[in-house]
Amino acid sequence: MTKTKHSRLLIIGSGPAGYTAGVYSARALLEPVLIQGIQPGGQLTITTDVENWPGMTQVQGPDLMVQMSKHAEVAGTALINDHINKLNLQNRPFEAIGDSGVIYSSDALILATGAQAKWLGLESENEFKGFGVSACATCDGFFYKGAEIIVVGGGNTAVEEALFLTKFASKVTLIHRRDSLRAEKILQQRLYNHNKIEILWFHELVEVLGTNSPKGVDRVKVRDVTTGELKYIDCKGVFIAIGHAPASELLDGQLDLHMGGYVITKPDSTETSIPGVFAAGDLTDYKYRQAVTSAGMGCMAALEAEKFLSEIPE
Ligand code: FAD
Ligand code: NAP
Repeated sequence: MTKTKHSRLLIIGSGPAGYTAGVYSARALLEPVLIQGIQPGGQLTITTDVENWPGMTQVQGPDLMVQMSKHAEVAGTALINDHINKLNLQNRPFEAIGDSGVIYSSDALILATGAQAKWLGLESENEFKGFGVSACATCDGFFYKGAEIIVVGGGNTAVEEALFLTKFASKVTLIHRRDSLRAEKILQQRLYNHNKIEILWFHELVEVLGTNSPKGVDRVKVRDVTTGELKYIDCKGVFIAIGHAPASELLDGQLDLHMGGYVITKPDSTETSIPGVFAAGDLTDYKYRQAVTSAGMGCMAALEAEKFLSEIPE
């Protein structure tokens, strides 16, 4: 028999937005239920040093998220390890169906499903995923001790990953399609000053090449985007760090989305196109995408959900 679990407020997502919404809504005595998804703690669990969380000059991403989860739980949020595979937002109570088979129904809903790594979409990238191709340096960097590594991208993630990978690699080559980086200036400075890092400007990755037995990468083919010239670079690891896309597949056709899948919220609010459904964090934020801004939106969503619930019968 299908089990239904009802709550006044359901929160989907356990990054800074979801946990902060949990802290605030639990303290408003809403007894929120929070579904953690397959990445409890969210994106910060795959990074190392976080140096811009106010109040802490430096903290490890996974440690910060453990603290946030404890805070949400101690405040009174029920944390549930499940992943939502279907949402029904057309009628209230809203329904979220978990992989466990449980139907989570709620009078208000906070969506905080964040974002996921983007890939280049190359066939060879897919072929070697998990065998030399990765989107997470902290998860996989250790496997490339003494090896040459390629990082693709020019944002904060790419630069941080390149710097982090110097702990293991004999050499890191950052491949970027332009001649300037989006990354913060302080990170750029560290990158330029590092003697293990080379930057290949105006280049794009064309193909990942390797062997089948044992399965692994041994080089990449890159193209100079200004001349079209092709060349090969020896390497054992390829880290793709070209950004993230909002995790909004479940919302397609149900909520108003824009800019490639980000949830549209009303100005200065986390309200979506459906009353009682709120969105917070990277799921809605195509501009700032920071832990602190996500947490701020989680707080806003909880306060707005509390107001919404106070105006409808229990
Ligand atoms: P996320 O952290 O993306 O969490 C999303 C959550 O939703 C996850 O728990 C996931 O399990 C859950 N979820 C998704 N789909 C489902 C589903 N269907 N069912 C149930 N649950 C689901 N920002 C900074 O401010 N400082 C930094 O130093 C910094 N470093 C970073 C380093 C890296 C490598 C990356 C990738 C990002 C970094 N960021 C940093 C950005 C920061 O991590 C994000 O802005 C922030 O985590 C977004 O929080 P969020 O709560 O919106 O979502
Ligand atoms: P990002 O800022 O969107 O940067 C993506 C990079 O990848 C850009 O340089 C982009 O090139 C490049 N790129 C995109 N698609 C590409 C393709 N198909 N082929 C080649 N290159 C491609 O993404 P991010 O670095 O993951 O950062 C995401 C957010 O998280 C940002 O808001 C960032 O500030 C935040 N973050 C913060 C920290 C921190 O505060 N320390 C750390 C990590 C992430 P172009 O520049 O040419 O567009």
